[in-house]
Amino acid sequence: MIYIGNHLSSSKGFLAMGRMAVELGGNTFAFFTRNPRGGAAKKIDKADADALMKFMADNNFGKLVAHAPYTMNVCAAKEDIREFSREMLKDDLERMNYLPGNYYNFHPGSHVKQGVDAAIEMIADAINYAVKEEHNTTILLETMAGKGTEVGRNFEEIRAIIDRVDLKDKIGVCLDTCHVWDGGYDISDIDNVLSIFDEVIGLDRLKAVHLNDSKNILDSHKDRHERIGQGMIGAEVLKKVVTHPLLQGKPFILETPNDDDGYKEEIALIKSWF
Ligand code: FE
Ligand code: FE
Ligand code: ZN
Repeated sequence: MIYIGNHLSSSKGFLAMGRMAVELGGNTFAFFTRNPRGGAAKKIDKADADALMKFMADNNFGKLVAHAPYTMNVCAAKEDIREFSREMLKDDLERMNYLPGNYYNFHPGSHVKQGVDAAIEMIADAINYAVKEEHNTTILLETMAGKGTEVGRNFEEIRAIIDRVDLKDKIGVCLDTCHVWDGGYDISDIDNVLSIFDEVIGLDRLKAVHLNDSKNILDSHKDRHERIGQGMIGAEVLKKVVTHPLLQGKPFILETPNDDDGYKEEIALIKSWF
């Protein structure tokens, strides 16, 4: 049993995304909580959210992995962007309460010139500000490729953020295969990478996987996704990841450069590995 799906457009609403996921062969999906390049969020249609939850239960879906907009940077150098980002985080978590029990993935942020230590404090502060006991979503810090001044480029930085979070039962990690590869973790030895993850963060925190091939070589810090099997990681390695005993039951989300037909093929390929 695998939970697999891809990033979908939310323009037609929640239930439409569930139906689209099934049409593509999936049983989970990702979506942006709001315009990825802007800030404004549509009002939540509760009936539509309820309809998706029922549809997911009827179709044995795994957990959804919502994605924060790219404009969010809770450790930005400019205070107004930082403020705006943490309000966005809080608002998104309130909106996620309409889809109880799912995941909300976000990029820890880019520290610009402030240094990683200061950024880690800011990220944890923002999480502690935004996450409330009444929220029913687990937020996931995404492992990053280490492009520019991205925070979360290694497991130690992710761990340092988690250590500073108050409500620890509401925080987890989403491992992006392209990002960790670009970040220097050789996932062709996935057993080793998972054992490092376990040592540094703890495998119980690993909740979801972004399944992507990479256009670039190990340790390149570039972050350019490629279709499964067409990049430098390759299908054999990604197959070992997807079928790894320690990763079963987790949602796998494709963020590969594809149209709908391409995703359909990719999902079928991955299902054929079981
Ligand atoms: Fe991401
Ligand atoms: Fe990702
Ligand atoms: Zn990426």
